[in-house]
Amino acid sequence: SLILVTGVTGYIASWTALKLLEQGYKVRGTARTLNKAEYLKKGPYAKYADNFEIAEVADLQKDAAFDEAVKGVDGIAHIASPFHYNVTDPYRDLIDPAVNGTISLLKAAKNHAGPQLKRVVITSSFASIMEPHGDGHVFDETQWNRHSIKICEDYKKAKAEHEQDPSKPAPKTVAPNEAYRASKSLAEQALWEFVKTESPAFEVAAVNPTFVFGPVIHSVKDAESINTSVFLLYKYFAGINKTIEEGPGVKGYVDVRDVADAHIRALQVEEAKGQRFLNVGGIFTWAEVVGILKEAFPDRTYPEIPTTSPPTLSFNNKKSIDVLGLNYISLKDSVLATVESVKHF
Ligand code: NDP
Repeated sequence: SLILVTGVTGYIASWTALKLLEQGYKVRGTARTLNKAEYLKKGPYAKYADNFEIAEVADLQKDAAFDEAVKGVDGIAHIASPFHYNVTDPYRDLIDPAVNGTISLLKAAKNHAGPQLKRVVITSSFASIMEPHGDGHVFDETQWNRHSIKICEDYKKAKAEHEQDPSKPAPKTVAPNEAYRASKSLAEQALWEFVKTESPAFEVAAVNPTFVFGPVIHSVKDAESINTSVFLLYKYFAGINKTIEEGPGVKGYVDVRDVADAHIRALQVEEAKGQRFLNVGGIFTWAEVVGILKEAFPDRTYPEIPTTSPPTLSFNNKKSIDVLGLNYISLKDSVLATVESVKHF
């Protein structure tokens, strides 16, 4: 059968498409950067070139953006969404493309894909689950991030009031990570809202990964163009980070190959329909990551590893194991495979 993978030129999507091709599926990948998709066809997908086609979707926010790309597909993995921290306006730079992209994909799926379309899986994020919590909290897929949405909505309101009446205070800038988290939360909310109001004939599921590490196979022209999560790790390997900053809360890692499998299993497994899945291999700290790098590449310069107490918050990934049958790659294997693929930069 034929699966549409949106944003196939990206880190997670390029792996999802590769694993689908390896399992005998035909894949249509959407791309706004055609030469990055051609790179896949000639490189990592060369063995499967006959089963891979490219559909250009230049701007996912445009009305009818996906109407052609969805035609005749049996399943969809909607992965394209901006993940960066260059934010001036949270709505223009992150939230609008994430939300409008999801809605335009779902509308196209409902109106133009055809009756053979069985299921649509959307890449959400742990960002749509996490909120600040006290010691002992365990994160799972029953939880929702309303905190980041509130921050962005307050910004929007203050901005509108200030524009109407300049004597009112200008809006406070929103931290880029809060804007990104709001974009993922609102995009996933748009999915569940669409299902409720539009009752599409197809089924849906959401995959919510934490920080994704693991090998890069898509086209990356220089270190700065590595996707956001891998670049955070690369900065410790390359000596760009001079100190270790853990940040608040708890961090989870998941290997990109397990994220790809989660999407494919969420398309295949009957019980996955209508579900969201926290996709996390385990807890990590940057101190642990630097420890792994130091052991494997002892001749490089690393920041000093501080002695910190382990996080008291944690994750419950049982549902992804029980329903999707995932067998998570370890932090060490994931970190080393990541570095193998980007160390030439
Ligand atoms: P990438 O930046 O590698 O991939 C993002 C993809 O989305 C690319 O194909 C990119 O196209 C496309 N895209 C981004 N913005 C737009 C836009 N405005 N219009 C059209 N296409 C766009 O990152 P990842 O692979 O890491 O991210 C993929 C998905 O996974 C995202 O939805 C992200 O939120 C989610 N995610 C990622 C995590 C991580 O740690 N990496 C964790 C949890 C969720 P192009 O190649 O042309 O730039």
